[in-house]
Amino acid sequence: MDTGPIIILANDQKCCYYQSSIQYIARIITTILHHNRDTTVDIVVRYEGERAICEICDALDRGRKLENVKGISFRHDNRVFSTPLRHRIENLDSIPFPAFHLLEPSIEHYIGEGKEKGFPIITTRGCPFNCIFCSTAALHGRKYRTRSANNVLDEMEFVQDKYKINVISFADDNFTMKRNRVIELCRGIKERNLDFEWGCSARVDLLSKDLFLNVIPRSSLRLG
Ligand code: SF4
Repeated sequence: MDTGPIIILANDQKCCYYQSSIQYIARIITTILHHNRDTTVDIVVRYEGERAICEICDALDRGRKLENVKGISFRHDNRVFSTPLRHRIENLDSIPFPAFHLLEPSIEHYIGEGKEKGFPIITTRGCPFNCIFCSTAALHGRKYRTRSANNVLDEMEFVQDKYKINVISFADDNFTMKRNRVIELCRGIKERNLDFEWGCSARVDLLSKDLFLNVIPRSSLRLG
């Protein structure tokens, strides 16, 4: 591998990692098309990035071989090598919250310094549907995995208290897939006295008047 900054492409999931010798770039499509011969890229993390990115950084720091890191493709001597895929992370609660304090130049750069301070939170991964224009199935295999409501609420509470975030974008593929889960989240938001405007992506036939008229207004959420 050439000397100089190491360019890694990885999926934009629940992780933040920064090291001065590594430039981490998140591009979902590129992580699927990992045979791309773009010579400006050194390593591609295929599919989920959290575990592999940590192992790559560890291997590079310790001078270990990348062959032992599962789920990546990397360039060596102008050839591309791919290691076996790793399993998807089943327990999403096991992933720590993003290391917001490591964001460069600072978290304020992303959330703004005005009245509205927004931030994305991912609460689920994947979607069982298979719309022909959508890359979600290619990335997650039509499997729907969720964080527990409490784990999501803990993160919301944390960003509200610590960074005064007041606008949340639920960056899930299909936030309203499970109605009971939305109800549980809204109930928890009310119980914890959280106060956010929010937005989400949802499949239109999974929305209902009941959600908008009865469930969401009972929490302190304000639809943005
Ligand atoms: S419902 Fe949304 S997330 Fe699911 S496959 Fe269709 S477009 Fe993709």
